[in-house]
Amino acid sequence: MSIQSLVDYAIENSLEGRPLDVDVSQSLVRPPLPEWLRVEDGLTGPIVVADVFEFDAASLTDFPLSSDRGPGSRMPPTDVDALAYYLPIHFYPRQWGIYYLDVGAIQLAEGLKGAPLTPWDQAWLDLAMQILYDHERFHFMAEVAVTGAEVALAADRGRSYPTFFRDPAAALLEEALANAQAYRRVRGKADPSISSSVETWMLGQGPGYRDFGAFVDDADWVLGKRQEGDFVLSTASPARPSSPALPTEFLFPNIGSYRIPQYMVLTTARRSIRLEKRFPKAFNMEIRVNTAEHDPPHFHLFTPPRDFKTRCTWPELDVMRGDPGLSRRERKNLERYLVVYGEEVRRKLVAAWGRDLPAIPT
Ligand SMILES: [Zn+2]
Repeated sequence: MSIQSLVDYAIENSLEGRPLDVDVSQSLVRPPLPEWLRVEDGLTGPIVVADVFEFDAASLTDFPLSSDRGPGSRMPPTDVDALAYYLPIHFYPRQWGIYYLDVGAIQLAEGLKGAPLTPWDQAWLDLAMQILYDHERFHFMAEVAVTGAEVALAADRGRSYPTFFRDPAAALLEEALANAQAYRRVRGKADPSISSSVETWMLGQGPGYRDFGAFVDDADWVLGKRQEGDFVLSTASPARPSSPALPTEFLFPNIGSYRIPQYMVLTTARRSIRLEKRFPKAFNMEIRVNTAEHDPPHFHLFTPPRDFKTRCTWPELDVMRGDPGLSRRERKNLERYLVVYGEEVRRKLVAAWGRDLPAIPT
């Protein structure tokens, strides 16, 4: 399935000019547009458009949240959608995408850590962003599913999604599945104390959100998508009898490398937090350079899906002591990666370590 074709179709058949808040208030259960996301006169406020970005933890030294909040920081007292928000294509064909509230992501990172962040807490920020992304990504997948059903059933162009959006049962299930998607990845990756704090946090959220637990295990996750798929098909084809056991999970796309537009809403622009562009994923790997790091100069190597692999020194490209080694194939890919991005990586290392470093010999 071509996701881009469906996105283009949704844009062509969108309801531009019809404010989402109308539909939100009619839906009864959809979360309201957050206050930090005002879209009436176009998007306001200082926003960084950045589909590949990360917070630079090293810039958090004098971030006020950190000093205001004592040890034992708690998880944010809100639903996920108060910290990040998915603007649907059908209502906002030009501005659609995932929006993150800067302080929301930081607060979530602090809650996950259970203490104020320090410049060495890149991993907590990354985890917070991943949770928010995985939740909002499901809203995108649901919109694509509805669009795909509309195309397949030759239903009224552009009508299905607004109808689906206002269906309370579909909306509640969508929030549960969105949280389940985020929780499933945390549970698979992070240690049990972290996944249990995420679980407690999600259980304290509103209706729908807090029901994610029913869809966490693999078989239940599939059944949840089937139930939602049944809503999707019934929306596009109202006369269709409900059949929630049919294997409709195919409607929800695996988005693979498709890039959902992502935006950071900066409410702390005068403070010192920095956003950095990521190096691209290529040759089946991704490189990260963290600031506030120890000698020797090195970069972090990740293999998809963003799993830490190892650290390599610069310019020797030796694997750091105690870290896993690289296979011959990975070594080859790293060399190819650095042929393309080596100079960018070198420049970032120079900035991070504050001293000149040689290019790697090619
Ligand atoms: Zn949501």
